[in-house]
Formats: sequence, structure tokens, C-alpha cells
Amino acid sequence: MTDRPLRYRFAPSPTGFFHVGGARTALFNWALAKRFGGTFVLRIEDTDEERNRDEWTQGIIDALDWLGISPNDPTFEGPYFQSANRAAHIAAAQRLFESGHAYYCDLTPEQIKARVDAAGGKGGYDGFSRDRGLGPGPGHVLRFRVPNGTTVVNDEVRGRVEFDNALIEDFVLLRGNGSPMFLLANVVDDLDQRVSHVIRAEEHLPNTPKQQMIWIALGAEPPVWAHVPVLVNEQRKKLSKRRDKVALEMYRDEGFTMLAMRNYLMTLGFALGDDREIAPWEDFVDAFELGSVNKSPAFFDVKKLAAFNGDYIRQMSTDELLGAVDPWFSVWLHDHPEAKFDETIARGMVPHVQQRLVTLADFPAAVDFMFLPDPMVDADGWAKTMNSDTAVAVLREALVAYEACAWDADALKSTLETIGDKHGLKLGKTQAPVRVAVSGRTVGPPLFEALELLGRPEVLRRMRAAFARLDA
Ligand code: GLU
Repeated sequence: MTDRPLRYRFAPSPTGFFHVGGARTALFNWALAKRFGGTFVLRIEDTDEERNRDEWTQGIIDALDWLGISPNDPTFEGPYFQSANRAAHIAAAQRLFESGHAYYCDLTPEQIKARVDAAGGKGGYDGFSRDRGLGPGPGHVLRFRVPNGTTVVNDEVRGRVEFDNALIEDFVLLRGNGSPMFLLANVVDDLDQRVSHVIRAEEHLPNTPKQQMIWIALGAEPPVWAHVPVLVNEQRKKLSKRRDKVALEMYRDEGFTMLAMRNYLMTLGFALGDDREIAPWEDFVDAFELGSVNKSPAFFDVKKLAAFNGDYIRQMSTDELLGAVDPWFSVWLHDHPEAKFDETIARGMVPHVQQRLVTLADFPAAVDFMFLPDPMVDADGWAKTMNSDTAVAVLREALVAYEACAWDADALKSTLETIGDKHGLKLGKTQAPVRVAVSGRTVGPPLFEALELLGRPEVLRRMRAAFARLDA
């Protein structure tokens, strides 16, 4: 617990893509900052990465922004850059040296290995230089003097975690070339940015006793720690870039909505406590607390995410949906110059396809036949459907009847029903040749509504074209 100003932070290392696990960590921090009126500090831990730094940083900011963590929000502070704080990292190391919490060591890795081997191959560096009084110099690393005893990390998620200091070697703070190690830089940045809560991935738990020692040695009160459980795949293996789809940007580009993604990520390790999994962001903000975060790994279930996405898509108004699908639909239209776009048709199709969309990117394929003068024909489906005299007769009679009947979905349906009755066919069978003739496919949105929207001239034109195809 802490009575310091509430300052949460998210400290990604740029990697060129934004991991969904990082997204969840960021959201947990953001939810707390929002709930308790704290600050969300973004720090880019860029000390290892030299390549494409600006672009990668922008990718992080864009991804956060997409999730609703806006750099323009007053809760947001940063980004800070770890690389810009190098002088402070070195100064802190110097203080640790001067206060006796750290010492220099000139052993080479080979010499250390020889000592470890001589001691039976167990353990790590044995503290050989602790009392040798060395100063800085080329090839001299600065090591932290790990005290005897135990280190207790009080973790808001994992509870009390005890570490036996005897198992923690005197770890390196500055490399032989004087450059600061991650462990040190991370602590010094948190100190400088007055961070009160370090909420991060579980994989950093083993770093925590060492970092807590650094905090204390620098005379500071350690932050509140919380390590959130890893995300795993179907095989219960930690999500990996090589095996799994982990980049938030990929989901975004594939038409997962921000609301569904944000909602789904909040359920990974946290539950609202009622039966709802799909709930507004505000409800998560009102309820989120570290003490309720689950300790066990959370399954990142893409199927479940897809179900959330479908749910959010179904909640959209027609205008919202048309706006949301626009990036994909515009590309589709651009790629199909022969398509005849018609706003009324697009709008009219929304209620008929909305139920079936899993992602926003599915929209063009669900409606494309409405705009293509010659919709792509599913050859197998066509052959199967048209492969009977009855089917062809139905289509012929439908063509005649549709020249004259009233033009609305109900009339189009009852007209076809009458034709079906004559042939002893159920509606499904009767409408199959009409659907194939008009859309080129055997499945699709409700037929009569689509026909009504297409309009009589276009429907008749396509039916006639189908006969031409049949004759050929
Ligand atoms: N930069 C570290 C990472 O991306 C995070 C360190 C931390 O949150 O303390 O894994």
C-alpha cells in the first residue's frame, strides 16, 4: 500500500509490433489510473533497440490510442524514453558504489565460469570481488552487493512471495563498458518518474527482488508490485510471436473492433463479479482491482474474441457499422472498379448481413454481389442447383412473374411460393435457382430483401444472363 500520488506506468520495449499481452497490461494500468484518478505514464524502454525507433514508438502510441488510451487524455503522461535517462542511470550506479551497495569486479566471463566449475558447477558468481576494493576501469562491471537473508515481495496479484537471497547472485548494474543494465535503468526510471505502482507481466517477477533491493539501497520506498499472469494459447503454451498471432495491429487490421478487443482483454485474468463478460468499459473501470486478478495463466482464445467481436458488431447502428466497415469496403471498391456502388443498397443490406459478420473485414464479401454487375459464380453450387429441369422451370416462371409482380420483399416471396407450390417444392428449394442466378452463390443474406434492394431491372437482367449461361 502506498500513500504517494498514484502513478501507474506502462513500459514497453519497442519490438515493431504491439503484443496483445502488453495491450492487456496497458489497459489494467489505464483502468486503475482512471478509477482512482491517477496518472498513466508511458515509458519507452528503448535502450536495446537502435533500429526504427521513431516508427516503432509511433506504433506503440497508435496502438494505445486505438485502445482508448489517448496521449491527449489528461491522465496520460509521456512518452519518456529510457535512452534519454542514461546519465541518471549511471549517477544512481555511482551512488550505489559510493554507499557500498555495489562494487566493481574485473573477472572475465571465462574466469567466472572457471570459479563456478571449481565450486562444483552450481550457483553463479560467488562474490569474489566484494572486498577487493576495485574502482571503475575498462572491463570492470559494477555488481550489486546482495545482502544476506530473504527478500519479501508483496505482490498485489500473487500475494507474498519470498526469495532466498542466497540464491540471488551479485547481479550486474553497469557493464564493463559502463552501460547500464536493464534492471537498474528500469528502477531509476520508475524512481525519476515517481511511479507508485509497477504492474507488468509475470515474466518480470524474478527481477523483482533484485529491483526491490535497488529501490531500498537508493533510499526509496519500493512501489506497489503486481505481476499479471501470462497469456497462453490453446495448448496452454505462452503466446509466442512465432507460433501465435500476438500483434494487436493484426487483429485491428483484420476487422476486430476496438470495443471488442478492449473488452476481451479486460476479461483475461479479471472478472466483473456478475455474470457479464461483455460489458461497457466504464463498468470495468468501476470494478477493476489488482487483488481480484487471477494468478493462473489466461487463455487468449481467438474464437472467444471473435464471438465478442460479432456481439459488438451486432450492437452497432447502421451508420456506425457503415462507418466501421468503410476502411475495408473502400479497399474492396477500389479493387473492383467494375462495381456499381449504391449507398441505398449498402445501407439497406446492413440489417441483413450484420448478424453474420464476425469481423468488419467480412462486410465486402457479404454484400459484394449486390454491386458487381456480374457476380462471381460458384461453379459447383451453380451446377448442383441448376442441374434439374424443375430448377430451370422455376427460374423461367420466376422471370416471367417478376416482370409484373409488385416489387417488395413480401410480394417477391409470395410470388415464388406460388411457383414452388405448383412444383411441389418448399420455399428453400424454389429460391435456390433464383439466388444462384442473381448472386452467383448458393448461400447469402435473405434473398427477397436483397432482390427488393437490387430493383426489378437489375434482377431481371441477371436472371436473363443466367439463361444465357445455361444455354451456353
Ligand atoms: N520493458 C519491459 C518489457 O517490455 C517491461 C518492464 C517493466 O514493465 O518493468 O517487458
